[in-house]
Amino acid sequence: MTELDDFRSLGLCEETLESIRTKGFETPSPIQRLTIPVLLEDRNDIIGQAQTGTGKTAAYSLPVLEHVTPSAGFVQALVLVPTRELALQVTDEMSSFKRGSTVVSAIYGGASIGEQLRRLKKGVDIVVGTPGRILDHLNRGTLDLSKLRYLILDEADQMLDLGFIDDVDRIISYADENRRLLLFSATMPGRISQLAEKYMRDVKHLKVESATVTADLTDQIYFEVRESDKFDALTRIIDVEPDFYAIVFCRTKVMVDELVGRLLERGYAADGLHGDVSQAQREKILHKFKKKYTNIMVATDVAARGIDVSNLTHVINYSLPQDSESYVHRIGRTGRAGNQGTAITFISHAEYRQFVSMRKAVGGDIRKEEIPSVQDVIALKKRNIIEELAEAAEEGIFDGYDDMTDEILLRYDPRTAVSALLKMAFKNDLDSNRYPEIRTFSVDRKGTARLFIAVGRKDGFTARSIVDMIQKESGLPNARINDVKIMDEFSFVTIPFSEAENVTRALNKLSEGDRPLAEISQKGGKKGKKPEEREHKEYRKKDTAGRGKGKRSSKPHKDKYNDRPERKSGRRYKL
Ligand code: ADP
Ligand code: MG
Repeated sequence: MTELDDFRSLGLCEETLESIRTKGFETPSPIQRLTIPVLLEDRNDIIGQAQTGTGKTAAYSLPVLEHVTPSAGFVQALVLVPTRELALQVTDEMSSFKRGSTVVSAIYGGASIGEQLRRLKKGVDIVVGTPGRILDHLNRGTLDLSKLRYLILDEADQMLDLGFIDDVDRIISYADENRRLLLFSATMPGRISQLAEKYMRDVKHLKVESATVTADLTDQIYFEVRESDKFDALTRIIDVEPDFYAIVFCRTKVMVDELVGRLLERGYAADGLHGDVSQAQREKILHKFKKKYTNIMVATDVAARGIDVSNLTHVINYSLPQDSESYVHRIGRTGRAGNQGTAITFISHAEYRQFVSMRKAVGGDIRKEEIPSVQDVIALKKRNIIEELAEAAEEGIFDGYDDMTDEILLRYDPRTAVSALLKMAFKNDLDSNRYPEIRTFSVDRKGTARLFIAVGRKDGFTARSIVDMIQKESGLPNARINDVKIMDEFSFVTIPFSEAENVTRALNKLSEGDRPLAEISQKGGKKGKKPEEREHKEYRKKDTAGRGKGKRSSKPHKDKYNDRPERKSGRRYKL
């Protein structure tokens, strides 16, 4: 287990190291290096500041989990996060590291109170929650923080932006005075410093500077692609690039193994490198790669260190690197020795925010491009077959196939014969159905997405009840839902890009027919036409088709969203 020495040296215990190993992390990220030892040993409150996507969750979760006594019968740590999505994400991440019978539980608005009460009653060691609902439970006396040891404010900047400051204030007043207060954030606006001054003792401010680094030699592009479409996007790129020879970077060992498995299954010559690969094995794998017996190397950042291959055509960021320096380091592997290489980065909704800050830090020009279409891929494959045929034909008639050729030509006309043979030989390769559809989604520079929702005024909805519906179903705070446009039969809203997938998923649980209730508006299309007019037209088409088959019964009922929950102040409602 020597490969986890970096984590071990921070002071983590063997049991924790084992969970890190299972998770597939190889080295601590910079914020983890800075915070873990302080959290494990000292008594300080801390402010941890690092870019989005740099592993802040594990930075506090690993040490806190070590200090929490499993099933002690009282809440020992509380993590406050701004959104339900984050509450679930943090709960997942924490649970993946937890020891023994430690209970980590997500408590957020929009979910059943009764079920939360039952869980709290049974005994929870760590609560991860959104401020409003946590305060509800505190007011009802169903959550007790009198023995709290850790209070963690995650995404503290967002939490304050969303107007949760008063709630946070009150929650802090409920907690044990001796709790340690930990604050994690990507940025550090003045209001956070004020909060820190008011509540924190012996504060250590631990900050990871985002270095400005540049990478000019490489052509850099990015694709916006759903997490679940990344694999298909990758295969299309491999298929259109004639001499594809690349390192594909993943974040964890688990991802490396999974991706290699899928590539091999599809018949690609791929191999994987990560920290669990033995030295002997590693040398063999590298040898094959250098000789180009395999042309795709899937690797973690750590494992890719020391691969001295200079003529790569591509570096693919299948998942984003930990920070901008790693990005530059990764892509620096192509474009060496005067060869122009291409760095391709896949960005999912969840990665968008991190990507924006990374792009700013690297300063270079990263262009957006579209993933090659299925038609392009197939046209190219056909051209390649014809080119290969030219080489083979040069050698003349093959001895072994002599008789067969004669017999076939006797029985069939040449055109039919060649076509049938092509079909037999390349059936799967040239079949467009073999390529699953990859949907594009729209995002603007501010990182927002426009959602189309298939209910409107005629269904009895108002702008207010649309917002309420989104808030209740997805947990997205009202303040993050903007530009509501309500029309007779449908509506549009603007929400943060990073939440788009989550919100559509939540809303579409309500749709029963073929047509989803919510969709992310598609980009592109005819010039000169306002996007909403175009969407309107497309929608009408779908709508009539749906109506004929009686699909309209799938709508949620507006009344469900018109009984506004009681709130202590109205400030969070914009409309
Ligand atoms: P942040 O809170 O800073 O935005 P997260 O804690 O959400 O970042 O981490 C982003 C992703 O990176 C998660 O998928 C997490 O599992 C992964 N990650 C965190 N630490 C490491 C590490 N040391 N090695 C590899 N992946 C990591
Ligand atoms: Mg985070």
